[in-house]
Amino acid sequence: MSRSFSVAMTAGTHQALGVVLVRDDRQEDVCLALYRPSTGEARTTALLTSVVPPVDSDRAIHGNATVFGEYMLRGAERARDDGCGLMFAHSHPGASDWQPMSRPDREAEASYANLIREITGLPLVGMTLATRDEAWSARRWDIGAGTGVDCTHAENVRVIGEQLRVSWNEQMRPSPFASTRQERTVSAWGDKCQSDLVRRRILVVGAGSVGMDVIVRLAASGIQRLTVMDFDVVEEKNLDRLIGAAQRDVRLRRPKIHVANRLALASSTAERRQFEFSSRSICEPEGLSLALDHDLIFSCVDRPWPRAVLNGLAYSDLIPVIDGGIAIDTNSRGRMLNATWRSHVVRPGRPCLACNRQLDLGLVTPDRQGDLDDPSYIEGAGIAPEDGGQNVSALSASVSASLLAQYVSFSVAPGGIGDPGPIQYSLSSHFLDYRDDAIRPHCPVEPSEAVGDLRPDLSGEHPIAEEMRQMAAAVDRRTRVLRWADNRLQALTNWIDRR
Ligand SMILES: [Zn+2]
Repeated sequence: MSRSFSVAMTAGTHQALGVVLVRDDRQEDVCLALYRPSTGEARTTALLTSVVPPVDSDRAIHGNATVFGEYMLRGAERARDDGCGLMFAHSHPGASDWQPMSRPDREAEASYANLIREITGLPLVGMTLATRDEAWSARRWDIGAGTGVDCTHAENVRVIGEQLRVSWNEQMRPSPFASTRQERTVSAWGDKCQSDLVRRRILVVGAGSVGMDVIVRLAASGIQRLTVMDFDVVEEKNLDRLIGAAQRDVRLRRPKIHVANRLALASSTAERRQFEFSSRSICEPEGLSLALDHDLIFSCVDRPWPRAVLNGLAYSDLIPVIDGGIAIDTNSRGRMLNATWRSHVVRPGRPCLACNRQLDLGLVTPDRQGDLDDPSYIEGAGIAPEDGGQNVSALSASVSASLLAQYVSFSVAPGGIGDPGPIQYSLSSHFLDYRDDAIRPHCPVEPSEAVGDLRPDLSGEHPIAEEMRQMAAAVDRRTRVLRWADNRLQALTNWIDRR
């Protein structure tokens, strides 16, 4: 499978490029920017970092724009000095949607592609801004050399601000046909929005009570490319919250991703889909690498280590993370005093999970070392044991609803309002509060914005994930006959469903 390519930038970078590229006199213009690569399992993303605006003598404007060599060289040298690649953008005034390459566009970029790669060590990225709807298109000059140099077109370009705005390459990722099964959804936000949302590659980390609900609802809304990551198996104690898991899943010690697979397929309304269920952990290098192929991530895990990894990715690799959780307060007699649930989009421009006090970075190392599974350590450190965390099914639906509502606001911006910022709901008073957590002055996470492959690497071996996978494989071998019968039954159910 050939690697796909994408470009991501913050709304701030998009705006800074727009200042140069969108001219009052409606003529074309050009602008350079630096980028850093973010290399996932199957996709490479160019993360735009800083804009290198032109001065008057850098180009000639005559309806179209002609860029001069000195500007390209200045940009390339700065990119090299900063350890970055170079992006060359031009505008198509009055145009909308993903732009095809005209012959002059192609010739202009090809004429500099070899030189820029020589100087920076990274392929030149070319981009076009259609000024009417501010849609981007992009390609990377990474094929061949000399006169045979050619480009790989991007599958999408993502702009991350109060709203996640994605421009799509219709040739590579064509708008899907919305079936009558999605009629009510489409009537809520229109065809264009639906065709954008269903093409995004979404990762759900954690298939527990909240994650499973998110998976089912994304599948029902017609999402085509969904990945679920979880290494855990279904246990008896999960059944009061893991809707859709059955007693037989406990008996067969089935991985949660097995249940997720079953439920996602049963709920999906997509005509064509590419669902992936992975038993990796986001904390393992392979899990992290897979995560980098996604446009948006739902964080449905409560342990500090995976949440720290996701918190980092949101800034270092410009992949927005929708996170949330619930805390239930009880008194010494075990009676409920209150429950609060929070939700937030983690992205540049918003406080990270450490700044909004949803993640104690001091617990990452003990979690990594397995200390949080050691009762004597937990007691000594005065930490509330994670797995004893109270939760009830009736309220996990509120948590998943809150995450999904953040997702809709961030993706669709109803009434022009995108991500609302961190919010908290208090059950006892039924009061919804906008939290005013600010970015802390010495936050160790947010300064790593758009560093891509230079990210502070928190991944490593995860013995518990490995143990779970081995246990699941061992149970798999022992219960072969039972599983065979259950799988046949499931296949029959699927067959009947399709009739
Ligand atoms: Zn922070």
